[in-house]
Amino acid sequence: MLLLVVPLIICVLALVLHRSPLVFDMVEKPVEPPRLSNAPVTRLVERSNPFIISLRNPQEADLSCGFEFEIRTKQDCEVYMLWGVHTNLLARITMGEGFFTSSYSTLEEMFIEQSMYHEGPIRLEKGTEGHRLFAQAREGFTLGPPPRHRVPLVFLTKLPDRDYSELELDEKDIVSLVTVVHIKDDHCVEMTSKLNEVLRLRNGNWIPLHKFYSTSTDTDQGLCAVCQSESVTRILLPCRHACLCDVCLTQLSSCPVCRSGVSSSAVI
Ligand SMILES: [Zn+2]
Ligand SMILES: [Zn+2]
Repeated sequence: MLLLVVPLIICVLALVLHRSPLVFDMVEKPVEPPRLSNAPVTRLVERSNPFIISLRNPQEADLSCGFEFEIRTKQDCEVYMLWGVHTNLLARITMGEGFFTSSYSTLEEMFIEQSMYHEGPIRLEKGTEGHRLFAQAREGFTLGPPPRHRVPLVFLTKLPDRDYSELELDEKDIVSLVTVVHIKDDHCVEMTSKLNEVLRLRNGNWIPLHKFYSTSTDTDQGLCAVCQSESVTRILLPCRHACLCDVCLTQLSSCPVCRSGVSSSAVI
């Protein structure tokens, strides 16, 4: 009896499978993943950023002991330290929304109104290299436990307003830099770091400052992550890994570093 039933079940299954064209389709026509060389190429436009703010020894910094930071500037500039800035303002700016309305006569006025208190302006001359300053919150300053509606610290670095006309700036030249800083405290114990940076152009647009991630090390400076012989010539987007040469780009179908899909690449 069993010998009769088993072949019968196999026949029924075969019929069911046969009615499912999807099963056969997947087996007979494997889909070739798209090659990276077919992804569109994004054109990068080089803009000189006059302001650079870097945190020194961020791994040792917290809200109670403060931290040292360093500024480099190619232009005369003013730096404001804004403590406890409301996230609404930052969300609008990081999304690129034009939020500089006529209700504020200056950029710093808008930031100061959205912060708990501020220090500055610290005035620096163009060509200043590695000017070190110390950031420490006032005694008693706290943002409390999460969820929070404020970030601990924002640096607003900007050209002095009076210089705009003298500098013969292009409409797309950078006039301000907003640096959002997380500072470790008892409630949020992640290491002190820059959360993001946004640039403001003279025409009023905000653009986020994106980092590119290089795979090079001290020994293989700027070499392609796949062949290890040619120089890196491509940045993959949206993951922003700068890791491939033009030849290896044609051989792959995803980013060799993070394996994510690639919507376009940019030549560097
Ligand atoms: Zn290569
Ligand atoms: Zn990647």
